[in-house]
Amino acid sequence: MAKVSVIGSGFSGLSTACFLAQQGHQVTVFEKNSSIGGRARMFEAEGFLFDMGPSWYWMPDIFENFFKQFGKTSSNYYELEQLDPGFQMFFGKDDVIKVPAKTEDIYTLFESIEKGSAEQLRKFLAEGEFKYKVGMQQLIYKPSFSWLEFANWEVISGATKLHMFKSVSSYVRSFFKNERLVLLMEFPVLFLGAMANQIPALYSLMNYAALSLGTWYPKGGMVEIVKAMESLALDLGVDFVTDCEVKKINISDKRAKILNTSKGIFQTDGIVASGDYHHIETKLLDEQFRNYDENYWQKKTFAPSCLIFYIGVNKKINKLEHHNLFFDTPSDDHAREIYETPKWPNNPLFYVCCPSKTDDKVAPEGMENLFLLIPIAPGLTDTEEIRNEYFEKIIKRMEHICGDSIKSHIVYKRSYCINDFVADYNAYKGNAYGLANTLAQTAVLKPSMKNKKVKNIFYAGQLTVPGPGVPPALVSGQVAAEQLNEYLN
Ligand SMILES: Cc1cc2nc3c(=O)[nH]c(=O)nc-3n(C[C@H](O)[C@H](O)[C@H](O)COP(=O)(O)OP(=O)(O)OC[C@H]3O[C@@H](n4cnc5c(N)ncnc54)[C@H](O)[C@@H]3O)c2cc1C
Repeated sequence: MAKVSVIGSGFSGLSTACFLAQQGHQVTVFEKNSSIGGRARMFEAEGFLFDMGPSWYWMPDIFENFFKQFGKTSSNYYELEQLDPGFQMFFGKDDVIKVPAKTEDIYTLFESIEKGSAEQLRKFLAEGEFKYKVGMQQLIYKPSFSWLEFANWEVISGATKLHMFKSVSSYVRSFFKNERLVLLMEFPVLFLGAMANQIPALYSLMNYAALSLGTWYPKGGMVEIVKAMESLALDLGVDFVTDCEVKKINISDKRAKILNTSKGIFQTDGIVASGDYHHIETKLLDEQFRNYDENYWQKKTFAPSCLIFYIGVNKKINKLEHHNLFFDTPSDDHAREIYETPKWPNNPLFYVCCPSKTDDKVAPEGMENLFLLIPIAPGLTDTEEIRNEYFEKIIKRMEHICGDSIKSHIVYKRSYCINDFVADYNAYKGNAYGLANTLAQTAVLKPSMKNKKVKNIFYAGQLTVPGPGVPPALVSGQVAAEQLNEYLN
């Protein structure tokens, strides 16, 4: 039985650990933090339960596919509820679009905003379904070592329908004219960490995910997925060592043999490194064993980092739904301040999650649990003063748009930003979501899953294939496990 080590217990680490254990290996997961889950940890304060990172449960089929491979379904572990509306977008006071759960109702909504757009949406989503089936059910399960992996008949014959060389922005605009509908259709690709004019229209599959497959919520919070995967991993015999930072990977004969950790020395026959790729390479490996140098990382387009506020409010806020997007300022300006001339944004868009609308366990009775998020460029200077300045800005806008007093009702507040991403996750430049899915950073063009100089080290997670997000992290862990297992056999 081979002794394999997983560095990091985020979704990709948990996924890879489950697969490696199922393949018959003795698996140990090393996690620097005191609890597992990586960016999806939860903390409790003053009776509020805060999910620290992801809040959108999209692509339920990818989660089901994960559990199915272990003879399980998500319902063995947690209860899913479809949100209705899935989300709402504010464009100003009394100017809001609520996206209903049922696709038929979404067609009606579109038609009420732009004549003829229901039919356009039908066509758009039909094309999105094709992209989703090829992209999410086939392409992302490839290790992406060579373009030849993608050379199957469905991909080749349908290549023009994947729209790889058109941007999401121009693709959306060829269907819809109304500026609000355009923003609504462009918003889902923000998850992929780049502007809609930089992302191949293949990723309009995200619209199919958002509008056709629905927005879901695991009762108890996103941390329920972490608990489910932990429980599965423990059943499969995985060991977890928390509060244990891996400090060095020792190599001999082109193989990783020993891990130096904050809790001592561990022998290993193979590693899946699911922590921040840049950190693993530059801090844990000597220079001659790295795939990439600093210059390579400097040139990469990173997905945004973010400034987050976890807020407890001692009253209900009627205008909020579970997911709320505040698009009441020009989105292009904010995008430029993230990607083109990185700086703290003047008038940022922001997102508010209010899970207490759906789940009475996450806030004391009669109160609201709020998660406020402003996307920002990674690597910005992060100080307490700047955080406070932005808090004042967005809380004022929220109060205006919701027509409600909020600030004077805050009973708990914690902020989280670049310095925390670095301290908690060793995140390069304090990135939150990994690498952007631009055309130049797709598949084979992403940092490789395989260490090319050390035979038994593979990488998983949001800085390698297939990319950022919880569903891709599950897949990344699965594919990395297959690669390490192949090497060990
Ligand atoms: C604020 C926020 C909101 C998000 N919202 C969504 C969303 O709504 N929906 C969605 O699908 N995705 C969302 N994402 C993205 C998604 O959460 C991530 O892409 C995914 O969770 C990343 O998983 P991972 O395994 O790659 O990395 P991580 O979760 O970062 O896990 C890596 C782990 O490695 C550990 N580690 C690092 N270095 C070491 C070391 N030397 N030794 C031991 N351990 C180490 C870290 O502590 C960490 O626990 C969000 C992310 C953030 C930050």
